[in-house]
Amino acid sequence: MFLAHKTTLMALSFSIPKHSLPSLFTSKSHLNVFPLPPSFLSLNHGFRRLRRAKFSAVATQITEAPTASPPGEAHDTDSSDGRIVLPTNQSSERLLRIRHTCAHVMAMAVQKVYPDAKVTIGPWIDNGFYYDFDMEPLTDKDLKKIKKEMDRIIGKNLPLIREEVSRDEAQKRIMAVNEPYKMEILESIKKEPITIYHIGNEWWDLCAGPHVESTGNINRKAVELESVAGAYWRGDTNKPMLQRIYGTAWETEEQLKAYLHFKEEAKRRDHRRIGQDLDLFSIQDEAGGGLVFWHPKGAIVRHIIEDAWKRIHIQHGYDLLYTPHVAKADLWKISGHLDFYKENMFDQMEIEEELYQLRPMNCPYHILVYNGSYTHTGISQSGLQSLEQCIDMNYLEVYMACSESEDLPSIFSTYLVLQCCLFTDRDDAHIFCLDDQIKDEIRGVLDLTEEILLQFGFDKYEVNLSTRPEKSVGGDDIWEKATVALKDALDDKGWSYQIDNGGGAFYGPKIDLKIEDALGRKWQCSTIQVDFNLPQRFDITYVDSNQEKKRPIMIHRAVLGSLERFFGVLVEHYAGDFPLWLSPIQARLLPVTDTQLEYCNEVNNRLKASGIRSEVCSGERLPKLIRTSEKLKIPLMAVVGPKEVETQTVTVRSRSGGELGTMAVDDFISKANRLLLSSSPQGQILSHGLDAKMSREIALVICHLQ
Ligand SMILES: [Zn+2]
Ligand SMILES: [Zn+2]
Repeated sequence: MFLAHKTTLMALSFSIPKHSLPSLFTSKSHLNVFPLPPSFLSLNHGFRRLRRAKFSAVATQITEAPTASPPGEAHDTDSSDGRIVLPTNQSSERLLRIRHTCAHVMAMAVQKVYPDAKVTIGPWIDNGFYYDFDMEPLTDKDLKKIKKEMDRIIGKNLPLIREEVSRDEAQKRIMAVNEPYKMEILESIKKEPITIYHIGNEWWDLCAGPHVESTGNINRKAVELESVAGAYWRGDTNKPMLQRIYGTAWETEEQLKAYLHFKEEAKRRDHRRIGQDLDLFSIQDEAGGGLVFWHPKGAIVRHIIEDAWKRIHIQHGYDLLYTPHVAKADLWKISGHLDFYKENMFDQMEIEEELYQLRPMNCPYHILVYNGSYTHTGISQSGLQSLEQCIDMNYLEVYMACSESEDLPSIFSTYLVLQCCLFTDRDDAHIFCLDDQIKDEIRGVLDLTEEILLQFGFDKYEVNLSTRPEKSVGGDDIWEKATVALKDALDDKGWSYQIDNGGGAFYGPKIDLKIEDALGRKWQCSTIQVDFNLPQRFDITYVDSNQEKKRPIMIHRAVLGSLERFFGVLVEHYAGDFPLWLSPIQARLLPVTDTQLEYCNEVNNRLKASGIRSEVCSGERLPKLIRTSEKLKIPLMAVVGPKEVETQTVTVRSRSGGELGTMAVDDFISKANRLLLSSSPQGQILSHGLDAKMSREIALVICHLQ
């Protein structure tokens, strides 16, 4: 350890910029560390059959076969384990041609079934295609009819024939078929000749291609019409409302099945639905969109996340800080926020004739603490190098992710409640160090990040290193040194990474990390950013061994990012079926009749006193109580009938382990704690919320296990 001295600082703070973070502090900067998401990769858990929610259901269920790698970067996926690799428009030109041709085939089918329908445009999209029609509103039943007609066209194996015509000729033909939208499209085509594609001799459309050679190249069993929605012509609300039919198309039937399964699974995991079903959180219209209310069951999970997060940081030598929500406007002038970021900050407020500003972030606060502790602890006299680490957490950040939702492939457009939070609490920390220490410090952050993410079952990452952009502050030498240090740290850690040349922040190079969830989707999560700018702006220094003042380097880093967002990802990762240590309610006592209620309450008190999150659930017949508990994914259920009261026992069923049998209450407590311990990836639950007696019990359990 290179620390000659370290002050102990504890912080809990929050920062409040106004809305999304464009301009200087865009998602490329450390401020908006969590731009939305994902490209998808392989399912990291492979095949696992879902056992339906019985007592014996598995805790982390995934799928019924077939399992697919999510559409996305198919080249990264591995089909050796029997998974189906889904190609994309980028990875397979054939697929793109199929999808494009499907759009025409669908338009032809629609006009065969509904001769009055007017065609407009129909591009290929991620996972399929769509086409917009001016026609009467359609229903799902209509889609079946249209698909049947498409199948007929595909079955006829009609060739797609390209024809070049003059503008006049195109106009003439469009007039002959009376297609006003096509005329409008023709007007927007500037180049000549105009290309027309025929499907056999039966139908034609204006198009530039590409297509498959004939409709028989489409596998009709790999095509499905998914939905119909209203869409304005040219996206303009003053123009006619059209009927947009979405379809999905693949090369093979297996791919279609896998895609549909993947989509279904993503829907099943939707954190909004699970959040409501398990009563974890809500968004209250009366309070405002994007403002998250953590309900007791969500709040306790968050508390556990924060607790684990803090504990690991402190073990890694961080100090905790709590800093104020507002500061004088001048502070944000020094930091540069007011100059570069003002439109994203809330209006200033006047307090006792002084202008104050809600914090847009924490960095300047940590600098103040660094400065204060540096001088007042007399480090400057020690003549030794110094480094400070401060952690800050639970601070609010305005975060308009909504606008970024457009980047999401359609099947994940549901993924946005917690991602669209206006204010989110973000885990933030800053490290102050010397140039020579960057590599070791970054390496330390990588270790810590991995340790924390492993706690929550995230063990696959995509790492990006972003280098110097065109506009930047700081000299060539320090950029070079820092970038090499980041590379060395990653190499040392043994993580592979991609380099985003020129993608760094203007103030320094950075490392971004995406986590891969149980469905193989990737989510932007951690970030580590070197900063040459703020130390300069605040003129912070340390005194080196030659008694000379030097400028330290600042490193911004966040591990989980926005807590709201991380929680949303976590809920979907586990499909709400949290491991025991994270479960909001770990055990439920279920009396067979009300006669056993008193005994249940007693047992409940003992469980609670032992640190187990338990509750009594009564007032219904036992099968109903069990069903409700299953629905809420309660890991442990203790059934209590007259016999259990008489023998002072409980009969235990585990969600993941099935029937555990009848046992004395003490044995149940020991058992629960043992399960708790094993459910925590690092077994670090030991120190988590347990009293001394419980720790001893667990220690005994560990001895027993050994
Ligand atoms: Zn076309
Ligand atoms: Zn920062």
